[in-house]
Amino acid sequence: MTPAHRIAVIPGDGIGTEVVPEGLRVLEAAAARFDIPLRFESFDFACWPYYERHGGMLPPDWRERLMGFEAIYFGAVGWPEKIPDHISLWGSLLQFRRVFDQYVNVRPARLMPGLRSPLVRRDGTPRQPGEIDMLIVRENTEGEYSSIGGRMFEGTERELVVQETVMTRHGVDRVLRFAFEQARRRRGRLTSATKSNGISISMPYWDERVRAMAAQYPDVSVDQFHIDILTAHFVQRPEHFDVVVASNLFGDILSDLGPACCGTIGIAPSANLNPERRFPSLFEPVHGSAPDIAGRGIANPIGQIWSGALLLDFLGYRAAHDAIVRAIEAVLDPASGGPRTPDMGGTARTTDVGRAVAEALRTGV
Ligand code: ATP
Ligand code: MG
Repeated sequence: MTPAHRIAVIPGDGIGTEVVPEGLRVLEAAAARFDIPLRFESFDFACWPYYERHGGMLPPDWRERLMGFEAIYFGAVGWPEKIPDHISLWGSLLQFRRVFDQYVNVRPARLMPGLRSPLVRRDGTPRQPGEIDMLIVRENTEGEYSSIGGRMFEGTERELVVQETVMTRHGVDRVLRFAFEQARRRRGRLTSATKSNGISISMPYWDERVRAMAAQYPDVSVDQFHIDILTAHFVQRPEHFDVVVASNLFGDILSDLGPACCGTIGIAPSANLNPERRFPSLFEPVHGSAPDIAGRGIANPIGQIWSGALLLDFLGYRAAHDAIVRAIEAVLDPASGGPRTPDMGGTARTTDVGRAVAEALRTGV
């Protein structure tokens, strides 16, 4: 018998605690249908109630406790009314990313049926499902987000501030390799974003590594854009893009822009990966804890559910991933009359949507 995949479940704060159970419901339905051995274990840390009791976001032995898991299924963290975001975020999620070397951040951006993209075609007609279907791959550990630098001559007229970008061959190549592999599995197109005309040392290096890697993937067609014109293309011709790879800062920006082009933030999933599996990878929706709607049972669970699909894909169950995405599409399809939460223009509750997706998955659309 194959040993079960161990998955740590951390619901966190706010709507995290409402959408995670729906994600688990769908993961369990997928496990039953595809005969996938999954074992879940829940943790109550990385949230405000834990902080209130213990004075910190995580227990001292959190590394050892999470190390044996293949994946972390995460809800959301943050309760700004009680604890500033920089403490809750740096004390939990960002620790996981760093300590577990989750050097790739992946966000699919795909226009689902029945959702309205804020983007329109050149003739003013709405974008249709399928016209936006991209995967944003962000470098997650180095680049512009280094803490190397400092201030000099503080408080004087000569005040000077420097912050360095750090790129290593190891760091750049490993995220590029991941992106090229994804392009090969998808539609065979890779777009890289830099700003080599302005940032004249680090960005040309990234471009150079893209060209070197492209030589190993003759089946992948490669575009290299400056970030400014790329954002314009995102808006004007999103259908062009398949896999888009970028440094930490540019990837951060693009990975908000992509999902924003697809309707509601409530459906967008993300994965923070350590592709070699030396450490657990983390799967979470793009949205935060949404204190404004927390506790009302109306949060959209689809971002959390779709993140579960990414988790199964990462564990090697691609058919199960595809089936979950199809089940989401079936529920959202206006022809099905499926439940929709208020952010998608409906009146349904979080659990209604979770149950409908699990049911669509069971009946095998
Ligand atoms: P961050 O995680 O970057 O701190 P934030 O806390 O600023 O993000 P979110 O918590 O993502 O933002 O919420 C932003 C807005 O989107 C809020 O008005 C929230 O109600 C809405 N929202 C977020 N997630 C969902 C969801 N799953 N369903 C419905 N509405 C959502
Ligand atoms: Mg927040």
